[in-house]
Amino acid sequence: MPDILSVEVANTLLLGTTVTMLAGYRRHLALPVPWRRLGACVALGLLLIVILHHGVDSVGARVVAMSVLHAALCLEMGLLLAPRLARAGRRYPILFTVCAAYANAAVQLVRALVYGAQLGGASVPWDDATLSMVFFSAGALALPALTLGAVMMANADLIARARHAADHDHLTGARSRRAFFDLAARELARTLRRGGPLSLLLFDVDHFKRINDTYGHATGDRVLADIVERTGAVVRSIDTVARLGGEEFAVLLPDTGADTALLVAERLRGALERAPEGVIAAGYTVSIGVATLDPGESIDAMLSRADAALYAAKAGGRNMVADARALPAQTAQTV
Ligand code: GH3
Ligand code: MG
Ligand code: MG
Repeated sequence: MPDILSVEVANTLLLGTTVTMLAGYRRHLALPVPWRRLGACVALGLLLIVILHHGVDSVGARVVAMSVLHAALCLEMGLLLAPRLARAGRRYPILFTVCAAYANAAVQLVRALVYGAQLGGASVPWDDATLSMVFFSAGALALPALTLGAVMMANADLIARARHAADHDHLTGARSRRAFFDLAARELARTLRRGGPLSLLLFDVDHFKRINDTYGHATGDRVLADIVERTGAVVRSIDTVARLGGEEFAVLLPDTGADTALLVAERLRGALERAPEGVIAAGYTVSIGVATLDPGESIDAMLSRADAALYAAKAGGRNMVADARALPAQTAQTV
């Protein structure tokens, strides 16, 4: 093989690959890619190779130069990813990649030191063939490991995004109906295990059709987003705000008894009644049904009682809170 292929082209390609990997990691993290700096790194590598091939012609010096450059790039990869280890659901793919990057940086540094020591006249206890074999094997593993890390991180990202999309309502950012029932089932199990109350608010915008008809569908959409934003500000962070469908929402209130739930509902109704700035001049109101878990009751049964209370609030004139406890037992069962 001509020297230019095995020395200049091979080393430039390998350096270009590591640089591209670093650029890929930065893009994955939505960080700008410093192409000039990275391009300069490849150009520097090529320049060093040319000088240490056609000027001095020292294999050892070329190995040292390339190893230092690769070690620096791998160190940068590790330093870039290590602070992101806390990313929810992405810890292990990032940990794997950070370990691969640091391990490769360490191998390259050791390689630079060993060949540098030899250049300086020191003798090392291993022959050239053994050293070449060890470093060649480590080098051959490095790029597949870094690539595997990239694929694992991208995969974890896709899974996290898909999960987020399934668990959240696209329009309002509230929990989706699916996520609500999952969380409610978990909360029910926790309540049964530990005891304590569990309450639910079910609310629906009053005359929402009129809002759509008067101000347009886009304003209707903004009202829905505004509801979720303002509801989130009224309830605690452990409460779940979900859009069950159309203009109907639910708030699950763990560790909350019936009286407190009524207070929360009244606070929410009062907060939403105030016209939101810049969304809809006339404001809007909601009707709320409140139910608290009865012993042995299912989530569906509690939701059904909250629905009956909501229906009663609508029938009672809207913009009001109705308590499922105040309903005749029969009403709750037939809704
Ligand atoms: P009520 O006080 O009895 O609840 O009356 P309402 O007009 O709010 O109830 P109705 O069920 O008749 O109307 C609900 C409307 O909500 C009809 C539907 O077009 C609208 N809607 C459902 N989903 C969306 C949405 O995502 N965006 C918008 N803008 N409107 C929606
Ligand atoms: Mg409505
Ligand atoms: Mg409705």
